[in-house]
Amino acid sequence: MTTKEFLQQLITNPEQLSNLVEEAIEMAFQQGFLFRTCETPNSSEVVTYAPFTLFPSAVPKARLVQALEVQTHFNTLVDKISQDPDFLEEALASTIQADDFTARLVSIYRQVQQEGQTQSIVVGLNRSDYMVEQSMDGTSSLKQVEINTIAAAGFGVLDRLPEVHRHILRTTGLLKESECVQDTNMTPAMAAALAKAWEVYGQKNRKLIGNIFNMKKSLFLCRNIPVIRRKFEEVSRRGSLDGDKRLFIDGLEVAVVYYRYGYMPDNYTEQSWAARLLMERSRAVKCPDIGTQLAGTKKIQQVLASPGVLEKFFPDQPQVVEQIRATGLYTLDMGPEGDQTVAMALTNPHKFVLKPQREGGGNNYYGEDIVQVLQKFKNDQRRAAYILMDKIQPRTEQNIPLRKGLPPRLTTVSYEIGVFGAYVRYREMILNEALGPVLRTKSIEHDDAGVVRGVAMFDSPLVV
Ligand code: ADP
Ligand code: MG
Ligand code: MG
Repeated sequence: MTTKEFLQQLITNPEQLSNLVEEAIEMAFQQGFLFRTCETPNSSEVVTYAPFTLFPSAVPKARLVQALEVQTHFNTLVDKISQDPDFLEEALASTIQADDFTARLVSIYRQVQQEGQTQSIVVGLNRSDYMVEQSMDGTSSLKQVEINTIAAAGFGVLDRLPEVHRHILRTTGLLKESECVQDTNMTPAMAAALAKAWEVYGQKNRKLIGNIFNMKKSLFLCRNIPVIRRKFEEVSRRGSLDGDKRLFIDGLEVAVVYYRYGYMPDNYTEQSWAARLLMERSRAVKCPDIGTQLAGTKKIQQVLASPGVLEKFFPDQPQVVEQIRATGLYTLDMGPEGDQTVAMALTNPHKFVLKPQREGGGNNYYGEDIVQVLQKFKNDQRRAAYILMDKIQPRTEQNIPLRKGLPPRLTTVSYEIGVFGAYVRYREMILNEALGPVLRTKSIEHDDAGVVRGVAMFDSPLVV
């Protein structure tokens, strides 16, 4: 029997279903696959299982391999863009006229560039997301949704999920399939990149700062790297730079800053902007630095899709350009030149996704909402705050979402593959890795995803 067949039978047997769900949740607790609750997001005393699918989802092996193989090139690309002020300035010129948040990030970037960058060590932890499209003839293709270069979520807890899924498959007698769910072990590898940067920074008594709950165990317990967690407000009140621009807070020197925050306008008060600027100007290694954050904007993704741009970053490597381009990379300019794009979107809104320069899910427009937004902005520069992307039609699967408070029922879902990238540059790339892959799955009723928003669930690939 396959998972699919088993599921069909399972839903006709409520008692068996409820036992299996109980078993899955029990295993999630045993494995520490846990989340804080929405009601008490800052409490570690009240936790529940992180939302997940009862079964792992079948993903074609070739697509997983492709996503992993291209990741080290995406790492290199993001890193090159982050160090290219001319490219960033030109690419984001119309966006910053229309979008205040990107404009503020760019102004910090400019200030750091003008002062002369003090830190040549860079550590990047990103996540590139894809959907798999299936054509009529059975062939599948990988389509990149976006790349996240700041506060990419999901590792930490996700390493625990394959064991939960294998357990479910074994419990139901699907032994062969249980062998097709692989461990990810991303967290130690991502922590190793931060540790490497910390090591290269090379001062005594240096600290790692940030909200690195997910990696604390790997960093602190396994490597003896002291980790402190500070809010932007605390950095703005108590942080300072010395004459060498070394960053201090509460009397401690900071070697590496990991931002688990700071990716959306709501994350910033005037005080937080001051803290961000202070950290960016400092000698501390930033994960990510401001240029790397900008390299992950939707607008940059769109510019990369234009002819000749990837070639500029990989002049002697046509095969790398080909590999990156094969992941879809298709988006359209809504800037001053984009009249045709706007007309196309208005004629066929259901074929597109309209995206502002935002992160975290829930910000995009679909269908009739695209028409509404464009009717407002179609003739003025405010439209440059958005990009337009072809709507991807992902494969669909059947699964049972498990989320606290939600009765388990058979649901049509689609998944997004995420591959994590980890790299460290010091003069040259001294570490460049691809990690994962992981899945986030949502009911097809929803257009937009987001695990924390309560729409998507964590999932594991079942390699087929
Ligand atoms: P964010 O940075 O907010 O996560 P995304 O570009 O990932 O922005 O979009 C959020 C969600 O919207 C995705 O997880 C996906 O579910 C959906 N989405 C984004 N782009 C597309 C697309 N081109 N086709 C279909 N769905 C998309
Ligand atoms: Mg994103
Ligand atoms: Mg996303």
